Amino acid sequence: MTTHPPQAIIVGAGPVGLTTALALARQDIPVVVLEAEPALTHDLRAASYHPPTLEMLASLGIGQTMHERGYIVQRWQYRDRREGLIVEWDLGVLAEDTEYPWRLHLEQHQLTRILADALAAYPHAQVLFSHRVTAIEQMTDHAIARCQCVDGERLVSGAWLIGADGGSGVVRKSLDTEFEGFTWPERNVNISTPYDIGQHGYTFNCYIADPAEWAGLFKVPHLGPPGLWRIGFPVPDDETDEQALSDEGTQARLTRLLPWEREYPVAYRSIYRVHQRVARDWRRGRVILAGDAAHLNNPVGAMGLNGGVHDAINLADKLGRVWRGEADVSALDLYVRQRRTANIEFIQAGSIRNKRTLEERDPAVREQRHAEMRALADDPVRTRAFLLGTSMIESVRRAATIT
Ligand SMILES: Cc1cc2nc3c(=O)[nH]c(=O)nc-3n(C[C@H](O)[C@H](O)[C@H](O)COP(=O)(O)OP(=O)(O)OC[C@H]3O[C@@H](n4cnc5c(N)ncnc54)[C@H](O)[C@@H]3O)c2cc1C
Repeated sequence: MTTHPPQAIIVGAGPVGLTTALALARQDIPVVVLEAEPALTHDLRAASYHPPTLEMLASLGIGQTMHERGYIVQRWQYRDRREGLIVEWDLGVLAEDTEYPWRLHLEQHQLTRILADALAAYPHAQVLFSHRVTAIEQMTDHAIARCQCVDGERLVSGAWLIGADGGSGVVRKSLDTEFEGFTWPERNVNISTPYDIGQHGYTFNCYIADPAEWAGLFKVPHLGPPGLWRIGFPVPDDETDEQALSDEGTQARLTRLLPWEREYPVAYRSIYRVHQRVARDWRRGRVILAGDAAHLNNPVGAMGLNGGVHDAINLADKLGRVWRGEADVSALDLYVRQRRTANIEFIQAGSIRNKRTLEERDPAVREQRHAEMRALADDPVRTRAFLLGTSMIESVRRAATIT
């Protein structure tokens, strides 16, 4: 008879996989994380954490380290390229709703390092690098991940398997479920510069509306002062990736945003396609999805990774109870109902709305939106409601009401 180790397998050592692993390890559940790459990836993607995400990560004991390394961003702006500042929002109004009435800016690759360091304290947790999962099988009492390793193929089995292997991951594909939604026609380019954009009155996070070229700005800590300004722009269909990433292309975009007679220093540039998709099924038997493996959204509003962390914490709580026999497996379907609903109602709807507002082409509609935003900012009750939504507190509260 073959025995199967009593462990949870997590595919992917990205932020969602490692958050899930740490949350399970802290409940004394043995975990093995299988990561395709030879080391943690240096992803220039997410960098902004909303209040509920900070509460959840603090509950795993890493809040202080994150705050020591990141930037606290209490105010963020909505701007228009032609009109300038429309509204500056102050998250301080949420002081009674959360312990963390701010956003924290810290690159995703710094979070994964912090998570991996914290996980290393648990002898029953291991991260196996250079383990690319190629197929999943499941039986009644266990699941098996087939891995391609440096020295050949290896089978890893466990009682449960969590797919946190990102948007094109194999675990979702193994479930043979639809990844419902659409891909935006334009791509986005991200350009990072150490140039001090803040000296022009920009807060560390701001969104700039424009019918031709909107922008999202984030100041991130990078290796330490002076940090970097990371700016995301849309790339139209008739511009190639090479043109958008060229020196001329990056300088042209930065100069259109903020004219400067000198050449901007550029630290990083990257281009990517943007999707709005949610998997129809998040669980089949012993295999469960979380993070980008289950859902993708555009980055306006910074909700993708945040939503993935919300999945990870919710799932680890329910799987922990199933593991200890305190709940039956239907708790895992509750995870799916709660997180899938929150994703569709808030993250998908909110990120699509945010992007459409930034890129609105009709001048009359744009003017009306700006007027509405200014009126909203003048009303403290509506301001609080707006910030509860944009800071994702409302989505977490909504998920908790689903039974
Ligand atoms: C430009 C940009 C900016 C963004 N900014 C924000 C932001 O500010 N805030 C926010 O909340 N979100 C943001 N996002 C979204 C965010 O980056 C993602 O939601 C987040 O990375 C998802 O984490 P994840 O762990 O689910 O997946 P990933 O980060 O994709 O990690 C998946 C891991 O699985 C591994 N893997 C893949 N396949 C296999 C396999 N077969 N076997 C083993 N391992 C495998 C990968 O190597 C990787 O380590 C942004 C995205 C982009 C593109």
